[in-house]
Amino acid sequence: MNKDCIFCRIISGEIQSDIIYQDEEVIAIRDINPQAPTHLLVLPRAHIPSLADVGADQEQLLGHLVHVANELAKSEGIAEKGYRLVINCGLEAGQEVPHLHLHLLGGRPLGKLG
Ligand code: 5GP
Ligand code: ZN
Repeated sequence: MNKDCIFCRIISGEIQSDIIYQDEEVIAIRDINPQAPTHLLVLPRAHIPSLADVGADQEQLLGHLVHVANELAKSEGIAEKGYRLVINCGLEAGQEVPHLHLHLLGGRPLGKLG
């Protein structure tokens, strides 16, 4: 828990958010500024600042984030047509919130990465 981190404050319940899924390790919320009809964020409860800070002992956690995103793609009804998982890491990738999170995007054609 980092008291200056917006996602830690959402996880602790201090800031209200639309929680779609939660378990002991991760939670999923709807992005406040959606870029697609489905735009969820899947985040670990632990405050890990970025993808680059994931240690060798946390491989299982990364796998779990992806697995939860895949399951949510099904429950959101976007699995068949296709979806995108994105992790922005660092400044030039446009990471704004320094708490590891995976974007699940779908519900419209997403175009090529540019
Ligand atoms: P990043 O640019 O760090 O990869 O993504 C951060 C994402 O968090 C953005 O898509 C932004 O809209 C979302 N976001 C920022 N603040 C909040 C918030 O308070 N609640 C929710 N649900 N999403 C947020
Ligand atoms: Zn945090």
